[in-house]
Amino acid sequence: MAQIIDGKLVSRSVREDIKKKVDAIPEGVRRPGLAVIIVGEDPASKVYVRNKKLACEEVGYLSREYALPAETSEEELLSLIDTLNADGEIDGILVQLPLPRGFDEKKVIQHISPSKDVDAFSYVNVGRITVGDADFVPCTPAGVMELLNYYNVELQGKRAVVIGRSNIVGKPQALLLLEKNATVTVAHSRTVDLPSVTREADVLVVAVGRAKFVGADMVKEGAVVIDVGMNRDENGKLCGDVDFEAVEKKASYITPVPGGVGPMTITELLKNTFTAYSRHIKE
Ligand code: NAP
Repeated sequence: MAQIIDGKLVSRSVREDIKKKVDAIPEGVRRPGLAVIIVGEDPASKVYVRNKKLACEEVGYLSREYALPAETSEEELLSLIDTLNADGEIDGILVQLPLPRGFDEKKVIQHISPSKDVDAFSYVNVGRITVGDADFVPCTPAGVMELLNYYNVELQGKRAVVIGRSNIVGKPQALLLLEKNATVTVAHSRTVDLPSVTREADVLVVAVGRAKFVGADMVKEGAVVIDVGMNRDENGKLCGDVDFEAVEKKASYITPVPGGVGPMTITELLKNTFTAYSRHIKE
């Protein structure tokens, strides 16, 4: 039976460390500040934004929320980003995605100053990750690395397989594993004979977006299995990309959904914001 990788526990521990650092900021010196922009009324986005605000409050950050109506023009949004880029109280700017139809998401994201791009989606930050010199790392893959590190999972020389090649999860995840000297394979929807590829993995990271996609037949005995997926099963219950009950019997470590990778994402956003703050405060 696999050991459960407890994302809530790790997340709590990282947030406590951040809070200690914030508490140690001298009187009269400003706290880290995060601005979150949401455009429109997407219910899931509203929940994410609320959770980010609560997380900021928990660790003592300044948190500003800009809720803009769906009719906001792209020029108005870019102008708000300009204002926040120049705002001395704000270290991180996050535009909640997806934006309503009609917005050029790429253009909007690239408008955020790389020094405040705490989601690490700007071309500058993506490039820095590629050459192993990152200030910020996209929050979900960074959370996965934090979990592996917390549970002392050895990566050097290990075979790692990432299923999924999105810009926000799969690709940066592969680069981060490579940085730790794993031998990395990235699988995707055109991969031929996926089970034979995934059965090679000592560490398997799954970011596909399909409920219970990975069964026990796709996993090597004793593998470490990280489930990034967040889906609803046929009963509307939250579940991952991995068939947890089946794979738990075969893996050495496994993340549950919920309670695995999910709690780490906002925590890594807090970490990136603190990194940005530490740089800005010295300028
Ligand atoms: P995405 O952009 O839709 O990417 C999915 C990837 O899975 C693609 O690269 C796709 O391959 C691959 N794929 C699809 N079907 C496949 C198949 N049959 N065999 C092999 N590969 C297949 O999704 P994402 O944004 O990376 O997110 C993935 C999952 O993680 C989702 O469930 C999402 O909700 C979850 N997520 C969770 C968090 C968190 O905080 N826990 C954060 C972000 C995302 P192609 O490139 O060939 O199409």
